[in-house]
Amino acid sequence: MLINKELAIHIVRLPLPFALNHINCYAIQGKDGWWLIDVGLNTESSRKVWLQFLLDNDIKGSDIKGIYITHAHPDHFAAAGWLQEISGAPVYISAQDSKSMSEIWNGSGKWITVEVTNQLNRNGMPPELIFKATRDIIPMVLSTQPHPALSIIEPGEVVQFGDFQYTTVFTPGHSDGHMCFFNQEHGFLFSGDHLLETISPNISLWPNGELDPLANFLESLNSNRCLSCKSVLPAHGAPFSNMELRISELEAHHHERLRLIKDSTRKESTQKSLTVYEICGQLFGQELNEFDLRFAMTETLAHLMYLVYRGEMEVKEHNGINLFV
Ligand SMILES: [Zn+2]
Repeated sequence: MLINKELAIHIVRLPLPFALNHINCYAIQGKDGWWLIDVGLNTESSRKVWLQFLLDNDIKGSDIKGIYITHAHPDHFAAAGWLQEISGAPVYISAQDSKSMSEIWNGSGKWITVEVTNQLNRNGMPPELIFKATRDIIPMVLSTQPHPALSIIEPGEVVQFGDFQYTTVFTPGHSDGHMCFFNQEHGFLFSGDHLLETISPNISLWPNGELDPLANFLESLNSNRCLSCKSVLPAHGAPFSNMELRISELEAHHHERLRLIKDSTRKESTQKSLTVYEICGQLFGQELNEFDLRFAMTETLAHLMYLVYRGEMEVKEHNGINLFV
């Protein structure tokens, strides 16, 4: 669907088999061809939508000049290998997320399953729940094959989408190397998962990732304030215009969560050491399915480590389990 005629921006909405049931990919037309931003899962239903889009717009594989990936999560990049095969187009991603692609997503999935299992174990999650919460990792890793050959984009680099120039904006937090793309002249920001209108992007501590992803995210949000952005084009949900307001809402959401976490161990003037699993239960309740619970655990851990690094909480190990106070 054409959403901006002047910049020739089309939304290509692909289905996702999760609670989050779609991803917005973008295709931009120029006089020399087409450029894509994010490409969805490599499933039959995704490929079908792409093939229909190419057909409807009379696009040959060789018309695709570049594929840009905002970050290395499968719903954003997994179809890139297939699209590169049919187009020969270069696939661009940040250096940090290229590393995650090769370390996490381009293997058998066993190494990352063991790492996540150990991380959840150390943080008090019951073993039977860990088994259920990690059993989707190997199939998800395998579903991202074949991987494309990757080219690296640097923060601040100027890239061409269609007939207009965009600057890559480094926005780590949701992933270590998340990138947005900003057209200064028209105030358009392709925000990936960094800024979504109604969802707070998951900020997780990954076993091999940045040590303080929440600090990175809050810094990225704050630095976005200097963009004079008129329209945010996100990877999930509808485009929106009031970026400043959304930044303030997300900041308030995380500061409130940090406050709740600090309060969770300080009840009735006594201090009680708690595991991440116990604090996560207080924050998110007991109703989450095991997959959502895994992301809730790693998000709670990211918040706890933010507080530890700022001297507002402490962590100590007891019998192989981390206890926070
Ligand atoms: Zn993501």
